[in-house]
Amino acid sequence: MNIQVQICGIVVVSLLIIMSLNRKTIWLRSKKAFLVALFTTLIALIFDTLSIVAIVTAAGNYTSFTRAVCKTYLVSLVWMAFAMNYYTSVDVGAKNRMIRIHRIASQIFLGIVTIIIPIIPVSIHHTSRTDLYTYGPAVIMTYLSAFIFTVINVAILIIFRRRMNRRRWGAEMTWMFMLVISAAVQFMNNALLIIGFASAIGTLIVFIRLENPESFIDRESGCFNDLAFSAFLEQCYNRGELISMLTIRFTNPHYLYERYYNENVASFLKDFAKVLDQSSGGQVFKYREWEYVVTFSRKTPIEVGSEKIQSALDRAWIIEGDEAEIELVYTEIPSTFIARDAESMLEMMRAFRRDYRNSSESMLVMDEEWADGYRREQEVEDMIISAIKDDRVMVYYQPIYSTAKKRFVSAEALVRIVNAEGELIPPGAFIPVAEDTGLILEIGRIVFEKACRFMKESRLYEKGIEYFEINLSAVQCMRTDLADEFIKVIKDVGLDPRRINLEITESKAIQSADILISNMEKLRSIGITFSLDDFGTGFSNLDYLLELPINIVKFDRKMTQAYFENEKRRAVMGGVINMIKAVDLEIVAEGVEEKYQLDELSKIDIDFIQGYYFSKPVPAEEFIKLVYGQQL
Ligand code: C2E
Ligand code: MG
Ligand code: MG
Repeated sequence: MNIQVQICGIVVVSLLIIMSLNRKTIWLRSKKAFLVALFTTLIALIFDTLSIVAIVTAAGNYTSFTRAVCKTYLVSLVWMAFAMNYYTSVDVGAKNRMIRIHRIASQIFLGIVTIIIPIIPVSIHHTSRTDLYTYGPAVIMTYLSAFIFTVINVAILIIFRRRMNRRRWGAEMTWMFMLVISAAVQFMNNALLIIGFASAIGTLIVFIRLENPESFIDRESGCFNDLAFSAFLEQCYNRGELISMLTIRFTNPHYLYERYYNENVASFLKDFAKVLDQSSGGQVFKYREWEYVVTFSRKTPIEVGSEKIQSALDRAWIIEGDEAEIELVYTEIPSTFIARDAESMLEMMRAFRRDYRNSSESMLVMDEEWADGYRREQEVEDMIISAIKDDRVMVYYQPIYSTAKKRFVSAEALVRIVNAEGELIPPGAFIPVAEDTGLILEIGRIVFEKACRFMKESRLYEKGIEYFEINLSAVQCMRTDLADEFIKVIKDVGLDPRRINLEITESKAIQSADILISNMEKLRSIGITFSLDDFGTGFSNLDYLLELPINIVKFDRKMTQAYFENEKRRAVMGGVINMIKAVDLEIVAEGVEEKYQLDELSKIDIDFIQGYYFSKPVPAEEFIKLVYGQQL
């Protein structure tokens, strides 16, 4: 029975070796280590079989040859345990000092054991074809060494659990588990020689879960996929290598469909990948639909590689090259130590490519400056997230003065964040990041709710504060559920919707006027009004004025100050004011800092004044004092 089991194991491992070798793959260190594990397992299985054959043939008359075969088997078992251990340590990464020391120590240990086992005696027990095994000092030494390697391996897996992805961890743990269980069984029942077979099954599991080269291949184009790209980057990171790569992107895929018709596009892409592969001297990855990445090693300088690619593409598709609008962008990441780990390295790469998505540069270097900026953004993002979690998003209020009623009639709600150190962070320092990351939606909701509650609970409307102006980000305006969400908050708070005015800003981020207008209409239907903020900073503000259902226009600080610069500007401003009044809108002038400005602006058709002259934005309690103060 033993022989059959061993032969099954040999077949399994041989097949795995063939499958690993005859498919192209990126030779990550873990792949190489896995191949070593496969070979040592194969050798152990072969010598296991040979030793059974040798013992049976000798039939009690054991020569030094029989013993040599048995001892080779024993040594190969230790090598197998070592190889598995090595595979795990490669996976964890070489940067760790503990792992480096472990590697050197285990190699020395392996060397010593390999020398000692052949020298010390081995005994053979053999009564029948199925009842045979070896025992004695050499066998004890073998089991002990394999046991040590396995225990250390399990320890590494446990200690570095967090560093490994769960899939890898699970597969490697199963492998070790198979080995330990089979060793225990074989130890208790000497004649059951199953270690070799169990480890063959273990390698099969690792192959299927982790090392199958197919999982790195993009089926359509035949080149490596994005998974392979991540693994490759991770390896570069772990080795601290320079990453230089060329991105090749089809900017006009429609062209390909027109030219090749649907069914032929796939074969075109296959040919395309082949040309890249053969001409570049680098590794070709299909990063995503219509985008390929070729990475270069130190041996192939990127200039040489990209020239080769360019001319190969020109040769293969002489006219199409240009028309298909293929864009080549070379990116270099000088030091992978820019990031703190492989995962954030990948995140960083994605961000870098997003940043330059629409750039016309063909040579991008991820330099320290960009990396610094990126890190700062990350910090801001972390700060926002923690502020939201710990309720450190505050709303300040800046009074707005009515030139007709000669008192404060409203206020603008302005967001502030108190960071973990207790410092007050102005919106300019986090709004752009919040908009990029979508966190502005949560911030906007918090500000809206806090302002509504403050208005309701302070009953400031009884003191003449008719409404609050609350800023809306373009990102919020593009949400189809914005109006419903706000209406729900207003209902929950029990506030009269007429106490709220929302400020919108003209922005590139407003991609769909339809969504914006539909949100506005819904909110207006319950009584909320709108202002157009930052008037005077954009270009097409006039269109906005006429098309959007707004009540108030807010002059930006620069616009307000321009009025006091010279006669010409004053004349233009006068014209603008007349025009706004002609369409029946009210005007707020922001950024009024001096008394003379207030006096001048009160004489013309400006309805409201907001600025440091009256007050900076202040916390809620102080704002109450301001309002009560002016009434006294
Ligand atoms: P904004 O909506 O135009 O707000 C007016 C800004 O001008 C405020 O800056 C205010 O403190 C400042 N300001 C007012 N009067 C004067 C003055 O006399 N002199 C000077 N030098 N500045 C004055 P703040 O609070 O730093 O806000 C900056 C911008 O951040 C706001 O500009 C708005 O675009 C944005 N923002 C503030 N809060 C929110 C919010 O809750 N949501 C959104 N989406 N954006 C907000
Ligand atoms: Mg505003
Ligand atoms: Mg403004």
